[in-house]
Amino acid sequence: MALKIITDNCTSCDACLPECPNEAIVQRKGLYFIEWEKCTECVGFYDDPQCTAVCPIDETCILDPDHQESREELLAKKKRLHAAEGVG
Ligand code: SF4
Ligand code: SF4
Repeated sequence: MALKIITDNCTSCDACLPECPNEAIVQRKGLYFIEWEKCTECVGFYDDPQCTAVCPIDETCILDPDHQESREELLAKKKRLHAAEGVG
């Protein structure tokens, strides 16, 4: 399952953006979004979602029930995203 950012809670502090191993977090016009196609819950890199770990505001980087994926699917996504780098 990908994560999403609750825009109303986000203070645009920028802490999450550099932490994402998949460059899934983007900033547009001062608002932060997660591109679900690139989010793997950090599977393959970290034990926990790093955006949630660093976000200072509770309930802002949360699981997105609209994008359900198994751990196997997330791992496959991670491999696909990083294939060119020879990672994983
Ligand atoms: S959970 Fe991990 S991969 Fe997904 S947006 Fe957050 S930091 Fe990036
Ligand atoms: S760390 Fe949290 S508050 Fe800061 S930009 Fe990211 S989602 Fe917004």
